Amino acid sequence: MSEGENGERMVRTGARRGLMFVLSSPSGAGKTTLARSLSDTDPNLRLSISVTTREKRPSEADGVHYVFKSRRDFERMRAEGDLLEWAEVHGNCYGTPRAEVDAALSEGRDLLFDIDWQGAEQLRAKMPDDLVSVFILPPSAEELENRLRRRAEDDDATIARRLKNAGTEITHWDDYDYVIVNRDLDESLKAIRAILTGERLRRFRQTALNDFAARLSGDLR
Ligand code: 5GP
Repeated sequence: MSEGENGERMVRTGARRGLMFVLSSPSGAGKTTLARSLSDTDPNLRLSISVTTREKRPSEADGVHYVFKSRRDFERMRAEGDLLEWAEVHGNCYGTPRAEVDAALSEGRDLLFDIDWQGAEQLRAKMPDDLVSVFILPPSAEELENRLRRRAEDDDATIARRLKNAGTEITHWDDYDYVIVNRDLDESLKAIRAILTGERLRRFRQTALNDFAARLSGDLR
């Protein structure tokens, strides 16, 4: 296909470069539920599946929520440059496999990342134009603790560590493009969808329209 034909196809299909949509928050603020709802209902948004050395929770499936790895395998991936970013969070390692990201963006597919502030910082440094970042705040400290306890999948020591880390995570809220206080899941989802719609329409992402607009202008003059 010639470049011109490709351009026309992109205009017809509304194609553009994909974006990296990052959601961060302390554990228990509702980010994982939001991320799952978004990727389940938006056909052009796929959740990037991280690798982790954390123990699998009873409700999780390998390859669906995470790809669970031994420390040794994680270290190997990191050493071989297979991770776009990685971080140690709550004493476990988490990372984003690089393989899918480049292909997705150039094919105009958006990727959703449920990652912590350290990961967001690395992606912001590496791919600033592709990144759109949203920080989710809980409505209160009490509500955060309630949510962690209601989940009932972690022991008391793990919950205590996650609450302590939440205080640190929240100090990074002002590095993000957008901030949402998650009081109500449906309201938060609406806000996040609005952000996505706007960011998809950003002129610089709609590269397929460059030729189209020039041609339109030429035809009319
Ligand atoms: P959880 O153990 O509750 O699933 O996740 C703990 C934290 O690790 C969450 O804040 C989550 O967003 C973060 N996380 C999950 N995957 C990744 C990843 O690939 N990279 C980074 N930097 N953080 C991640």
